[in-house]
Amino acid sequence: MPVREAPDTVQQVVINALGEFLASPPDGTPIEVVEALTLMGGNVLDPLPPRLFFEAVEQSPVAISITDHRAAILYANRAFETLTGYSREEVLGQNESILSSNATPPSVYQQLWRTIQRKETWTGTLVNRTKAGLDYLAELIISPVLDRDGDLQYFLGMHRDATKVHELEGALRQQKARIETVLDAAPVIVALLDSKGQIILDNQEYKKLFGDLRGKEPADVLRAAVSEQLGLDAFAACLEGRGFKDVEVAIEIPGSMGPRWFACSGTPVEESDASARTYFGRQAPGDRRLLLLANEVTARRREIERAHLENLRARLAEQQLMHGMREALAAAIYQIQVPLNVINAAAAMVRGGAGNVDTLAGMLDQISVSGAKALATLTSALPEEPREAGVMVNVNELLRQVLELETDRLLATGIVVDWRPAHVLPELAGHKNQLRALFKHLIDNAIQALCETNRAHRELRLTTRRVDEAVEVEIEDNGPGIPAEDRYRVFEPFYIGWRNRRGKAGMGLALSQEIVNAHGGTIEVDPTMTDGCRIRLSLTAVPDDD
Ligand code: FAD
Repeated sequence: MPVREAPDTVQQVVINALGEFLASPPDGTPIEVVEALTLMGGNVLDPLPPRLFFEAVEQSPVAISITDHRAAILYANRAFETLTGYSREEVLGQNESILSSNATPPSVYQQLWRTIQRKETWTGTLVNRTKAGLDYLAELIISPVLDRDGDLQYFLGMHRDATKVHELEGALRQQKARIETVLDAAPVIVALLDSKGQIILDNQEYKKLFGDLRGKEPADVLRAAVSEQLGLDAFAACLEGRGFKDVEVAIEIPGSMGPRWFACSGTPVEESDASARTYFGRQAPGDRRLLLLANEVTARRREIERAHLENLRARLAEQQLMHGMREALAAAIYQIQVPLNVINAAAAMVRGGAGNVDTLAGMLDQISVSGAKALATLTSALPEEPREAGVMVNVNELLRQVLELETDRLLATGIVVDWRPAHVLPELAGHKNQLRALFKHLIDNAIQALCETNRAHRELRLTTRRVDEAVEVEIEDNGPGIPAEDRYRVFEPFYIGWRNRRGKAGMGLALSQEIVNAHGGTIEVDPTMTDGCRIRLSLTAVPDDD
């Protein structure tokens, strides 16, 4: 672009003003401004000819203007023209206020003027308006230029458009605020740590834990707990690139009932390098960070512990009951021995022709008394049937619970379970424990049957379906099956058809039938089943709570 001729006087003003400025930059002048203008003027030892110096100012990408002591413009360079939209002919002699928009508060101008009148450099931001009426943010440096006697001679103004930067900063602030809102709303502890373990970013939940820990840094406490659990410094390993996931740790918190549990995860995060070197996309290795997430799982843990205790309590109660029954049965066995001895003696007497009717009658009385005593002992050993309230039950859920209880046995015996629940079942009013006991007994029978066969493939199939308002359940195994002639007998008390009779009383199916009856249902051995056994039961009615 051809250099426009500047009048000699203007050129002289510029050279003079900049020369004086560089000779003694006022207080508060940013060093980079001095450096930039010095560069335009050439080497101190070998300064550029005035014309070239002037040309450099003309070509500068920064809008430069020089005013008198009242801010009347004496010179404006090309960048000034481009940025403001005014030609220099239009602004020469005008006050710089020609650029003012009414969006800058008067206090800013007052502070500007106070500073430059103290003969110091003012730096700040004003809202300017272009000739076309567009507002822009002007980042401005105004320096007073003094003559050799120290009197104010000119003002040197340099400004650039900072609108884009401001918009970017605004967008960045907004983005940051959004991220902070999301993080604070998350019901999880979030913290970002630098390579030295210092917190760079955290959320509300983290701060809450900080408060609960009475000022102890939660990241340090969690780090110690996770490292203890994993047997290595988990955070250091994570910063080296090996993260960890869902490590559950307990933390003692002052004043809280029992420990609080957290599932902690650490993810190494590579922070991108924002330096100029990466402008063309080549990424330099950035600093590594650790993103720590800790989810409080105390409620779930307490629930598991409670269920565990409950289970233990139930087992203890069962053991106690068993123990009591064994004791009572041992006593009854001992007591039954007495009438048996008397019977043997009476039988020997009768066989030997000895004894008379009175003696035999006496003996029979004795047998009757000791027999009744043994009976009473046995009766007292019978555990009372626990009364259970009727509730709405879901048969699928009960079967699933029983299956879960039996998992270990099923795995140990190599039985494959084919679980075919109906997608939707009507809820039944029933006694949960009784129904659970019923299903457990029938599944136990199937397991025992499968153990008594030497089939390579052992399968237990459980099916539920809705039949009108009833729920039908089928428990099927591919074991030896039940012979047709025993289909009804298996439900009689004391019937035992197992090869291995140990621990069996033959009461299971009789009791099962009682439970099914109480639930207004039926139970049968499917006569059409040829390859194994299928027990089919249907449950309907509301059980009577009395
Ligand atoms: P004004 O009445 O001109 O000034 C507002 C307040 O500023 C006054 O109440 C007073 O406290 C103070 N003030 C103004 N003039 C003087 C003075 N001569 N002596 C002491 N105090 C004074 N303004 C912009 O809006 N944009 C620019 O880009 C810009 N660049 C400038 C560059 C230079 C080199 C200088 C010296 C000034 C620049 N100014 C700029 C300031 C400008 O001269 C005006 O002061 C400002 O624009 C406010 O103008 P106004 O008409 O709204 O109010």
